[in-house]
Amino acid sequence: MTLHQREKQEKNTDSRGNAVANVASSGAMEKTTRDHFNGILHQRLNEPRGMHGNFPEPLETLYRRSHLEITQHLQSTFWPWVVVSVGLFCVLGALMAQNQQAIIYPLNIVICLAVLTPVAVLKIKPFARFIYYANGLAATTTLLAFQIASVLLPDSARQKSVSEYAIIFITIAAFTIARLPPRHAIIWVSISLAGSRLIAWGIGLDLELDRLLYFGGGSLIFGYLLGFIQDSRERTVFTQQYLLKEEKRQLTQLSSDLEQLSRSDQLTGLPNRRYFDEMLEMQWQKALREGEEVNLMFMDIDDFKAFNDHYGHQAGDDCLLKVAQALGGQVLRSSDFVARYGGEEFVALFHRTDQAGLEKIAQRLILSVDELKIPHAKSRCNGFVTLSIGISRLQPSHDSCPEILIKQADEALYQAKEQGRHRYLFSPACSREETTAVPQNT
Ligand code: GH3
Ligand code: MG
Ligand code: MG
Repeated sequence: MTLHQREKQEKNTDSRGNAVANVASSGAMEKTTRDHFNGILHQRLNEPRGMHGNFPEPLETLYRRSHLEITQHLQSTFWPWVVVSVGLFCVLGALMAQNQQAIIYPLNIVICLAVLTPVAVLKIKPFARFIYYANGLAATTTLLAFQIASVLLPDSARQKSVSEYAIIFITIAAFTIARLPPRHAIIWVSISLAGSRLIAWGIGLDLELDRLLYFGGGSLIFGYLLGFIQDSRERTVFTQQYLLKEEKRQLTQLSSDLEQLSRSDQLTGLPNRRYFDEMLEMQWQKALREGEEVNLMFMDIDDFKAFNDHYGHQAGDDCLLKVAQALGGQVLRSSDFVARYGGEEFVALFHRTDQAGLEKIAQRLILSVDELKIPHAKSRCNGFVTLSIGISRLQPSHDSCPEILIKQADEALYQAKEQGRHRYLFSPACSREETTAVPQNT
């Protein structure tokens, strides 16, 4: 498996694990789009008035999703406090009801039910996303209940105070505690104010439109202002979090790029010697635990100095790249591994392969380079670029080390060169010694 394939596999596993985080921070955005948004958000953060108004899409959608999640979270955490406060309020109302119990008791029940509606909505998962509607409904019902109570009270001073305080408190709560988006809050509050006046008109009471405009309009403006400040602060926090996530993503990307660079050979793209040493150590330890053999091939291009001298260094580089690709293409199993060891030398590890299997692979590797048919006028073999291979095979023990395996393969390679190049040779230390010249196909 080449380094590129390996990295791709690791990335896929990673993306499965972090899918949610990726969507939250960047969605399916292209790099240029992300850079564009980062620029806009940085600019907004630096402007004192920059946090009002919508973000460009899809950031606005992400922001609204995050606002909804925060609302759900806050309400799931603090609902007992809200319910207890409203409950106490109702008890006080009931105590003060004196001879108006017939009005106050049923309205108390309506208010308690209204406040419990968002709690119920949050408990039923598929409905949790309707929390704004539940909050709006609760605020409207509560406000309407107070307005009805106020118009039905016999004492006009009490009527006014109950009606007006309710308008102020509940309107501001709709914009702030209930976290309704401003448009929602204005609609819900207006519905309940209009509804209460309709009821008053229906039972023939004074509509008191001037006072309604004064308290209703004033509370709406004040509530809207508080909601606006709250929204600006949340947009600032969202922007900071978004940019932090972006920075984290960029750092992760950078470190993975650096990791890949430090493990791969710049010219050929194959894993480099450093990565090979790590893999060899890993396979060695694994084989030691499991009582298996480690198989190593040391490959070297024949007469490459002469090739360079004759065709030039650039042609030498091109040749190295083609040979590397040909060798990489022959390492098919994910557990196998080929790397550039240095210069025109390559190494490969083959997992769980017997001697006959190694022979076949060595033949394939030599043939893959032959098939490139790269002319080599100074070759001592056949006029084309060719490869020699030394093979070692060893069962690790506690008194041996991976370097012995490399040394044996290198010695076998030296012998293959001595015997005429363009061939593979097993190290004499292997159980069955064998030398095979590859049939000339050129
Ligand atoms: P042999 O068949 O015995 O292996 O002979 P050789 O000429 O291939 O061996 P030698 O080790 O003498 O020469 C290796 C040459 O590989 C030397 C150097 O010019 C060349 N070489 C090493 N690294 C690179 C590289 O990155 N690019 C190019 N173009 N040439 C390289
Ligand atoms: Mg060499
Ligand atoms: Mg060579």
